[in-house]
Amino acid sequence: MAEKTKGEVLKDSLFDKKENGWLTVSEEQENKIMDFAEGYIAFLNRAKTEREFINEAKKILLANGFKDLNEVSSLKPNDKVFYINRNKSLFASVIGSKNLKEGMQLVGAHVDSPRLDLRPNPLYENTDFAYLKTRYYGGIKKYQWTCIPLSLHGVITKANGEKIEINIGENDNDPIFTISDLLPHLAHKQEKRTLGDGIEGEDLNILIGSMPFKDDKVSSKVKLNILNILNKKYGTTEKDFISSELELVPAFKAKSLGFDGSMVAAYGQDDRVCSYTSLKAILEVNNPNKTATLILADKEEIGSMGNTGMYSEVFEYYVNELLHKLNQNNFNMVNTVLCHSKMLSADVTAAYDPNFTDVFEKHNEAYLNKGVSINKYTGGNGKSGASDANAEFISYVRSILEKNNVTYQITDMGKIGVGGGGTIAYILANRGMDVIDLGIPVLSMHSPYEVTSKFDVYMAYLTYRAFYEG
Ligand code: MN
Ligand code: MN
Repeated sequence: MAEKTKGEVLKDSLFDKKENGWLTVSEEQENKIMDFAEGYIAFLNRAKTEREFINEAKKILLANGFKDLNEVSSLKPNDKVFYINRNKSLFASVIGSKNLKEGMQLVGAHVDSPRLDLRPNPLYENTDFAYLKTRYYGGIKKYQWTCIPLSLHGVITKANGEKIEINIGENDNDPIFTISDLLPHLAHKQEKRTLGDGIEGEDLNILIGSMPFKDDKVSSKVKLNILNILNKKYGTTEKDFISSELELVPAFKAKSLGFDGSMVAAYGQDDRVCSYTSLKAILEVNNPNKTATLILADKEEIGSMGNTGMYSEVFEYYVNELLHKLNQNNFNMVNTVLCHSKMLSADVTAAYDPNFTDVFEKHNEAYLNKGVSINKYTGGNGKSGASDANAEFISYVRSILEKNNVTYQITDMGKIGVGGGGTIAYILANRGMDVIDLGIPVLSMHSPYEVTSKFDVYMAYLTYRAFYEG
């Protein structure tokens, strides 16, 4: 082999190489990455909604020595606890040897994803079809949700408190639901509308039946037939929709993508990819110096409001409970803990898509297969609404990544002026923590079928594990 020229040697030492991660791994590492992805894909197929995620997470935490904080009266270093908030959000910690006032090492992701929620009065009949009215949840491109199989998930809680868990459309024997769209032959007018209003919010009506109840004397026979089926199966009436939370999500299975199987295609990887990897990572934490804490938040996709969203003071309540059970509580101690804490806001970012180059600034985008993506700031235009992490904290995060041989990229999202986004980072930063967004790039984000790289997924797991340990 010819000796390297002076320029080549210099370039090796001075350039940020930004290599494709697959080029850097051994066969053994490649197998580990592929195995980890198998577990991830299986999990995605078990937990498609925030409630299902929290339920699965609880099982996994219990099986790995974590205890429900409510059932623990005192805490000591290396104790492992979790707290579930209204079946939709969760905090879990491994208690550190240092006093909590020295701060925690946090990783925070969200478990809600864009979807279609049922309206309070959803069921109606039109022209011998039965339908459910929906209101979409989070940012979606509405036309993407027609003509795909949809499954129904959630709960119906009757007036007497009895709760029925619903999951229809995931098993091979289950029926699915769908939203119809116009045939191209008659769509000449529709196709002149913009992509944004080709399908409107009020067009997202779920087709759920067409068979009439056999009785000449009654009207709304198809609706009656559906209600009768539901009544026989669940003992419910139309009024029980009032106290239900039912969500429609794509019925697609999560799968390996590509001839090389290098990617994962699945619904709701924003942000289950970070939720899953940060959950898996905390299971590995033992005897940390500082308390390691996992946050799995709800409602991120609609602004983090409400008692299960990150704005809620349920998180402060949790920290107070930890302090109390560690016998370290004192005036203002929660603020001290928060202000001394460090956090990775574990959320996805847009991946550079070669099919849509005009919205990307290619020097500063996140690329699939180039590892975890650090977003110094989110927002749009002049960093409006951004939580802009400081250089000192980035240096701290970087040093952890480099010590642990994690492949990472530092990225922005899109050309200036084309849009923007946000995460839970600013909410915790406002409470005094050092926070930065660190997740992985996703193609077709917020669509019914999102794409990630298995290499990046594994890098996220390594990152969160190292960060918990500080
Ligand atoms: Mn997200
Ligand atoms: Mn999102």
